[in-house]
Amino acid sequence: MTREDWHNRAASLQIDGRGLIDGKRVASLSEETFASISPIDGRLLTDVALMGAQDVDLAVASARRTFEAGVWSGRAPAERKAVLRRLADLIRAHRDELALLETLDMGKPISDSTSIDVRATSNCFDWYGEAIDKIYDEVAPTAANTLALVTKEPLGVVAAVVPWNFPMLMAAWKVAPALAMGNSVVLKPAEQSSLTALRLGELALEAGVPPGVFNVVTGLGPEVGRALGLHMDVDGLFFTGSTQVGKYFMEYAAQSNLKKIGLELGGKSPNIILKSYRDTAHAAQTSARSAFFNQGEMCTCPSRLIVERAVHDEVVEVLTKTAAEFVPGDPLDPATTMGALVDHRHTERVLGFVDTAREDGADLRLGGTRERAETGGCYVAPTIFDNVRNEMRVAQQEIFGPMLSVIPVDSVDEAIKVANDSCYGLASAVWTDDLSTAHHVSRGIRAGLVYVNCYDCDDMTVPFGGFKQSGIGRDKSLHALDKYAELKTTWIALGR
Ligand code: NDP
Repeated sequence: MTREDWHNRAASLQIDGRGLIDGKRVASLSEETFASISPIDGRLLTDVALMGAQDVDLAVASARRTFEAGVWSGRAPAERKAVLRRLADLIRAHRDELALLETLDMGKPISDSTSIDVRATSNCFDWYGEAIDKIYDEVAPTAANTLALVTKEPLGVVAAVVPWNFPMLMAAWKVAPALAMGNSVVLKPAEQSSLTALRLGELALEAGVPPGVFNVVTGLGPEVGRALGLHMDVDGLFFTGSTQVGKYFMEYAAQSNLKKIGLELGGKSPNIILKSYRDTAHAAQTSARSAFFNQGEMCTCPSRLIVERAVHDEVVEVLTKTAAEFVPGDPLDPATTMGALVDHRHTERVLGFVDTAREDGADLRLGGTRERAETGGCYVAPTIFDNVRNEMRVAQQEIFGPMLSVIPVDSVDEAIKVANDSCYGLASAVWTDDLSTAHHVSRGIRAGLVYVNCYDCDDMTVPFGGFKQSGIGRDKSLHALDKYAELKTTWIALGR
């Protein structure tokens, strides 16, 4: 489709902003709504239901009722698999509609929405559906006169609270394993990006997920997110977003029913380019592409580029050249590689780091400007700060925008020390051809993900999550299924 095709399609889109509870699209009990504004150009997309604690009560009650009735939890894994795989097919069949909603709602380029977000979301439902009828429970090696069964059971009512940077995919990373395991789910999307979550809920119904097993509640975090966190009848709450809000969820759990909490939080990922890597230009190109992908709105954004001084000048030169591939453009143009930031408030916050960096003594090498202001949208040029010291605020705080800090160092061990000098520990990378150095650095870095001579490799088969204040628990892979299950031990006496 061309840019014009996407614009025409956007103009004729009918968007329903009501929530989804007990299998029905519903307004909030208060009948209040909030405006869903596109960061592309400020257009009003629709009015979304502004739900509150009482709406959450209805959604949780519906999830509880269906869970206890066994309409989903009681079905054979092979039956759940068939439904989840049908849902994956439906997501693929609605690729253009879902991609368009995602791009309009949060600003990412349409070519990324179609080729990455929709594809990865359908793959996620396929993968957990496919996995769930291949997992066996255990018989423990106890004495011959007993039988001890160790079985996994669904948690019950699972709530998922997700952010706006990959709205549909982050929802899928929680909802797919939770449903595969047999739970009933209440999903709360970010207020900036409710639209694909609502369509996902509808498609799940069409695929055969029984009404009430997958509910979507829309509204604001401090109302709806908090109500889910404090709810006495939610058994587990799984969150992706900022570290600050992750801490709130731990408090909510402690203040209520000690529900299980899973957190995928922020990052300030170190990316180390050493002189022992044969192709400095390739390392720098990949680093720039990974940092500016998705407008830099990524928890794994390699925002701290730690460079051995011997290759510093070449790295900065290539970074600056590669950044030219990321000119902010119309997100509905398939040729665009950098879209809009999520909203004006976030854009102001991101641009604020230009002054912060200057005050702290960093050199602005590229960008730092608002772009395409005439569109009414939220665009920021790719930005590179050089000669950053790790204690500076641009190196310590998560910016979540297209901003990259270059931190020169003098040795491998200094690089590891700088890499670990952060409250976060999500992703990291090292570029070197020396095998021992690669192992030394990857063992030395306290992070959930270490890339060697690459960045942002991705596959459903590997766990994703962080050390330190980057979170608790892992998304993706078979390991993620454990979060949505309770482990039960059953002792059976065998005769005399
Ligand atoms: P938040 O952590 O504020 O929001 C994520 C989710 O939590 C949203 O659904 C939000 O709801 C909800 N929420 C917000 N406040 C509360 C609360 N008090 N109680 C319960 N739920 C709440 O992230 P933002 O969207 O505001 O982004 C801010 C920063 O978070 C970014 O700059 C970045 O640093 C980080 N972030 C990290 C992400 C990651 O993938 N690790 C993803 C997105 C953001 P609502 O927005 O509807 O109010």
